[in-house]
Amino acid sequence: MHLKESNGFIGLYTERPYKKGELLFELRGPIKADATSTSIQISKAKHIEDAYTQYINHHCTPSAKIVGRKVMAQHDLKPNDEITFDKNIMADELQKPFVCKCCGKLLRGKKYPAT
Ligand SMILES: [Zn+2]
Repeated sequence: MHLKESNGFIGLYTERPYKKGELLFELRGPIKADATSTSIQISKAKHIEDAYTQYINHHCTPSAKIVGRKVMAQHDLKPNDEITFDKNIMADELQKPFVCKCCGKLLRGKKYPAT
């Protein structure tokens, strides 16, 4: 994995090809009960924050999915593909609501319908 800037946004990118379902890496940070603006919610009242979580960008058709600590390829990936996940279906309530770059909707977490 490596970080790269694209259009003013830093994102996380692959180094090599991955097959669908393959483990990309594991999140290693502490699990906390409360969300922060850069944590990822992995289950009810469990939020992980580590060196990478703030750089895994949202996409509505993401390249990866996060199950527990595992970040896995959602489909086959090429080297230098951005690793993205669906923040909106992971989080009950986003600490930092944002307008999605792919669909233009305001996303606030799964408690709220996207508008
Ligand atoms: Zn979108």
